[in-house]
Amino acid sequence: MFKICDLHIHSKFSGGASKNIDIFKIASNSDIKGIQLVGTGDCLHPLWLTELRTKLIEYSDGIFYIPEVLNVNFVLQTEIEAIWKHNSHVKKIHFVLLFPNFDKLEESIDFLSKFGNLAKEGRPKIYKSAENLIFGLKSIDENIEIIPAHIFTPYFGLFGDTPHFNTMKEALGYGMNYINCIETGLSADPLMVRSISELNKVSIISNSDCHSTSFHRLGREATLIKLNKLNYHNLVDSIKRSKIVKTYEFKPSQGKYYYDGHRPGRHLDNKDYYCSPKLNIEICPYCKKKLTKGVLARVQDLSDQINPFKLNFQYVVPILHLISIVLGGSEYDKRNLSIYLNLIENNDSEFAIWEGKSNFESIPENLADAIRKIRNGKFWFIPGHDALYGKLQFEN
Ligand SMILES: [Zn+2]
Ligand SMILES: [Zn+2]
Repeated sequence: MFKICDLHIHSKFSGGASKNIDIFKIASNSDIKGIQLVGTGDCLHPLWLTELRTKLIEYSDGIFYIPEVLNVNFVLQTEIEAIWKHNSHVKKIHFVLLFPNFDKLEESIDFLSKFGNLAKEGRPKIYKSAENLIFGLKSIDENIEIIPAHIFTPYFGLFGDTPHFNTMKEALGYGMNYINCIETGLSADPLMVRSISELNKVSIISNSDCHSTSFHRLGREATLIKLNKLNYHNLVDSIKRSKIVKTYEFKPSQGKYYYDGHRPGRHLDNKDYYCSPKLNIEICPYCKKKLTKGVLARVQDLSDQINPFKLNFQYVVPILHLISIVLGGSEYDKRNLSIYLNLIENNDSEFAIWEGKSNFESIPENLADAIRKIRNGKFWFIPGHDALYGKLQFEN
């Protein structure tokens, strides 16, 4: 069987997250998007864990559901921030964790709570080296899956400019032997990952890292995975054995950290500055401070091969975002939301549209045309930089 998965989301207990996220919303909105297997988000957080324990029913080993939404399954998932000193520099890296069941999750909570306050943040800070964290978790259960998150993003990605590790070995020590899989993040795609030979051994997944269940956030990136059976063991096995059929990707230039730059808010006159890393400009011409170095720059630093793999991925743009661009207004406007829901009603789900369903009777022709342009690759972005998303542009 094939499942469209979003294995990295957040609950209302993560910083900057929408306060009305609940399990029902995650499930019902995943269903509308066409996400069939979704992470729980923040499963180390005591209050969210209570909600998970109350609402989730076991479907099979390590896979859960709620009775109101039978098309969507859950897996126990969180993100953590590892913080430690490495050659007298403080390093911070984000990891996505998947757990095989509630018992192993509780054991992991006992272990992790020695090194950080799990009740403070949905994505807790854990003061321990990435290598020792990996060893600790793997000694609880070898099936706890540890996935370096959004690996190139500037502040918390394993290869990002601030941690500034140039190899997985340097960042994770022997812990790297337990890494089967990495997450691209919004500003990178598999082509960029596959330009780095050290990553040849790992598979690639894409997730939304959403902090809201809105339709332009949840499932904005996702992964199609082949499973023999729907259970945790098979999920992890598929990730390890690279039974990843394809990923659905943001075009990297849409991501918030693609180019080097400074967002307008950093400058008194609100001037924006961004540039291709090819120009080798490190200092901002407006404020004379160091530019935020984007994902493309890091990939260029680390790239050492021409992609040797056959890649399968597809660029998508969240349809609710498309609606707001084409018809005006925001993703939160009632009119836009109702156009979106109508469209989905006629096509089963958003991912069904990306896979070719084309019942566009209910929508204006210019919107239908925009969807076709995305499917045919006739679009580009004014590149995102310094926490600013890229701006969508269509080709004629
Ligand atoms: Zn993160
Ligand atoms: Zn500046």
